[in-house]
Amino acid sequence: MLVRFQLAAKENKLKGVHWKFSNTEGGAVKLWCDCPFWPDDGMCRLRDCSVCECPENEFPETFKKPSKVLTKEDLMCQEENPQATVDRTLDKKVFKGWVEVDNPWTNDDETDNSEMTYVNLQLNPERYTGYTGPSARRIWDAIYSENCPKYASGEMCQEKKVLYKLISGLHASISVHIAADYLLDEKANQWGQNFEILHDRVLRYPERVRNLYFTFLFVLRAVTKASDYLEQAEYDTGNHEDDLKTESLLEQMLYNPKLRAACPLPFDEAKLWQGQSGPELKLQIQKQFRNISALMDCVGCEKCRLWGKLQVLGLGTALKTLFSAGSDNKSSPPLQLQRNEVIALVNLLNRLSESVKFVHEMGPAGQKMVGHV
Ligand code: FAD
Repeated sequence: MLVRFQLAAKENKLKGVHWKFSNTEGGAVKLWCDCPFWPDDGMCRLRDCSVCECPENEFPETFKKPSKVLTKEDLMCQEENPQATVDRTLDKKVFKGWVEVDNPWTNDDETDNSEMTYVNLQLNPERYTGYTGPSARRIWDAIYSENCPKYASGEMCQEKKVLYKLISGLHASISVHIAADYLLDEKANQWGQNFEILHDRVLRYPERVRNLYFTFLFVLRAVTKASDYLEQAEYDTGNHEDDLKTESLLEQMLYNPKLRAACPLPFDEAKLWQGQSGPELKLQIQKQFRNISALMDCVGCEKCRLWGKLQVLGLGTALKTLFSAGSDNKSSPPLQLQRNEVIALVNLLNRLSESVKFVHEMGPAGQKMVGHV
């Protein structure tokens, strides 16, 4: 599946990542936003962490500004790869027809897409980038210590546990993708699987494997809950063949009888926020998740930021779908998603399912987990 999204470059400094999507296969993101927490954090200088935007010929005609003449700068890829040139001619009206409903779970500002360009995610797979050290560490530390601390063993609050498990599951999934597509030999540019990394970061912690499965089931539930909405959404890619393929793939995903039989209710959202303090707790956890979303602007590696933003937005969309829209509570509005939210949700499900598959195939811990799903 082609997945695209928009980036915005400005004066070679971080200007953050916002999202807009053009269909389930494509979307938009402003990659260079100011990091609100550590403004001194520079951009990644590793070759494997820079993002290649979209080849010009992939940019849907319907999304182009008719009169713009492309300059050399418009078409420059950060990896200097002529196959992956940039088209910065995004029409501001690209997202017309899709609602702009604020998501209380995320920090992204969806209103300004003037700085966005269009990126093919297939040219920028989530994989090992070499991003490590204090910059990466402080993001994870800030996420866990300030926004979703690991619950104490006596902690009864399910909702707080859910937030921790979702983040830990996503973290495990990122680690799995690093291990699944690792730079084994830099000189020979040889990529492959790194079982040691998989074991050291994920498999030897059964709780992380459990959290990965939990996050997968949570997102799967959000997608099945949103299936009517997703089925009726308009997927205009500007390319008729792509549109038909998108619709067919979505249908296969949403109405897969095997999946429905295996997981009739992957996660029961009705059990949460029930106590007296439910509404207050929900606001608190929303605030924490928004902080996590804002932290993604501080990820100092372009490609990691791209995928970090995408997946955190996907989680925010799952949270919105399950807890803030179309629920049984009469006060909640009917579900409405933005294009970028649809793409983030579907891509997150794909990333998580790939991780679950890899863990299942590679590790005994993963194989044991299957019985518990
Ligand atoms: P880290 O993964 O940095 O973990 C830090 C600490 O968190 C660990 O010491 C452990 O105490 C705890 N921890 C680890 N896993 C879990 C878990 N599942 N649940 C709970 N606690 C846990 N690098 C890439 O090469 N490619 C990428 O695409 C990429 N994307 C990233 C996206 C984001 C948003 C961030 C913040 C980082 C990303 N990185 C990426 C960096 C990568 O995640 C690691 O930070 C880096 O590889 C260093 O790993 P580490 O072994 O030091 O432990």
